[in-house]
Amino acid sequence: MAKTKIADGIAAQRLPLSQYVENFSDAHPPLDNHEAFVEADRCYFCYDAPCIQACPTSIDIPKFIRQISTGNLAGSAKTIFDQNILGGMCARVCPTETLCEQVCVREVAEGKPVKIGLLQRHATDNAMSNNQQFYERAASTGKKIAIVGAGPAGLACAHRLSTYGHDVVIFDGRPKPGGLNEYGIATYKATDDFAQAEIDYVTAIGGIELRHSETLGHSITLDGLRSDYDAVFLGIGLGGVNRLGLSDEETTGVMDATGYIAELRQVDDLAKMPVGRRVLVIGGGMTAIDIAAQTKLLGAEEVTIAYRRGKEDMNASLAEQQQAVNKGVVIRCWLQPSSIKTNSDGLQSVTLEYTEENGGKLRGTGDFLKLEVDQLFRAIGQRLDSNDSLAQLDIEKGRIKIDATGRTSIAGVWAGGDCACGGDDLTVTAVAEGRDAAESIHSALASPQT
Ligand code: SF4
Repeated sequence: MAKTKIADGIAAQRLPLSQYVENFSDAHPPLDNHEAFVEADRCYFCYDAPCIQACPTSIDIPKFIRQISTGNLAGSAKTIFDQNILGGMCARVCPTETLCEQVCVREVAEGKPVKIGLLQRHATDNAMSNNQQFYERAASTGKKIAIVGAGPAGLACAHRLSTYGHDVVIFDGRPKPGGLNEYGIATYKATDDFAQAEIDYVTAIGGIELRHSETLGHSITLDGLRSDYDAVFLGIGLGGVNRLGLSDEETTGVMDATGYIAELRQVDDLAKMPVGRRVLVIGGGMTAIDIAAQTKLLGAEEVTIAYRRGKEDMNASLAEQQQAVNKGVVIRCWLQPSSIKTNSDGLQSVTLEYTEENGGKLRGTGDFLKLEVDQLFRAIGQRLDSNDSLAQLDIEKGRIKIDATGRTSIAGVWAGGDCACGGDDLTVTAVAEGRDAAESIHSALASPQT
């Protein structure tokens, strides 16, 4: 294969072909039956278990672990799916070290939690690979609900609504459903096209129609959906990417991390992905960690994350930071981008300013650091894409304002996941919000006056 070069220092096929397979293999290989049995045996099956409280979807963790330990794998999967129908993906991408496993009493007492995430994967993978389905649709209600966004929130909402006998149509702007699960997470966290396998499993209940390449504010509008359907749920995520605010930011070599990660997830041959020798990532969340780790695995020689505050302030957990460091990524804190230098070929260097906190406010110190880089990734957060449909809704802190049940400011319209105000930007939180909004929609349709 000819090497593709898009600018000085940015080229494809930096590694021997076999190295890509090794670098992007499953990040946390599954437990075998014996390992799962031994691990389940470590659980104390705590009364008032703290791990349940720490799970955004409130999965009965000691119950599903006990079911594994007694050989009831199907029952264990059902316990998980009852609360979280996307329990298979969450087992792969949840930052368990800051959720259930952080508060596990074995972590507190011994520094070694029960491997809840891997046990959850063991149970759910078993059910999915055997296509064990646990839910049936209730008799048809004749109600139709439009869901915008086929990501975790939309899928969880659709499944729960379908169990009640409602008909659901999910509209999504991309060619494939799955949202962040399909386009936004590191390749090695969900291998073997798991996101699509999970969608097939979730939609097997029936009553869920998927329509792709339909974007709110373009081919569909909120007014149109409200008149054609009995209720609307918005799980549209955050489509806009925050800019760094530097001049020359649109030069060759400066990219959005989310766009590159999406491309990486869809490419048929990882060796085709052009990557710089020297990569700089601006940001401190999971997207910054994922793009940094993946560019290193694609063969970048030097990958640096620059974050404007301290390590403990980063949205990515210390464990996630360490995983990137283990792959060879350098994390440098208290630095913010100041300017970009370009030539006719594109990006040449980035100048960063050291920062400090003064009275709780961040400010530049006036000291600068210049890094020669080929590729610069923006990973400083995302925002709602603006359009006429969204302009009708109350917005709070840049996101759709909702109440505790997911209702927006417009009657008959609910929202959840990253596009909605409140909650962490986690897959598992999106699932919880989609599921809970479905319960609220179902109640509202049963009692229209509420
Ligand atoms: Fe088991 Fe740990 Fe949860 Fe207790 S806190 S029930 S030991 S997983």
